[in-house]
Amino acid sequence: METTPTALKDIWHKCIPCKVSSFVWKALQDRILTRENLLKRGTYLENNCYSCPLCPTPFESTDHIMISCAYSNQVWKAIYKWLNFSHISQSSILDHFFEFVEKGGNKVGKAICTMIWQCACWKIWKIRNAKVFKDESPNSSRTVDEIIFCTWRWLKARNPNHFYYSSFEWMMDPVSCFPAKIA
Ligand SMILES: [Zn+2]
Repeated sequence: METTPTALKDIWHKCIPCKVSSFVWKALQDRILTRENLLKRGTYLENNCYSCPLCPTPFESTDHIMISCAYSNQVWKAIYKWLNFSHISQSSILDHFFEFVEKGGNKVGKAICTMIWQCACWKIWKIRNAKVFKDESPNSSRTVDEIIFCTWRWLKARNPNHFYYSSFEWMMDPVSCFPAKIA
């Protein structure tokens, strides 16, 4: 993956909490502890169960859980709709990242799309962990609401003078809320 270094350079931004970008940094390099990666490292799970915790797919890989899982797919589809983006058919996390960010258009738009993309990955992983460790049922529309509100908070916190929109305005028409510049 010769484009990985470029992606890794692009993920760090003041608006995005370090813990989120650190997680994404690992995910883009396939270093997160999915069940497939646990198996590759020689960790054997109970009942030899390496399937996706959120759908019946037999192996939980990074590309699967983040992008192509039935659950993640629902989240991404709602995010495309929210941003008025056309569908992205990439199934690799890296290709998905590049295509999603490219849709941002200009420099600020791309930075905001990087932020939204990372927030979505972070929330999907949290939902996955809540299912694995607490047996909580995933709810894609709640996850999407969380992504919308969380990205609004991140933008607001770092850009009090450039980003003055309410969470309602952000939810209704995010692209119109993209500021001229961000911190
Ligand atoms: Zn799945």
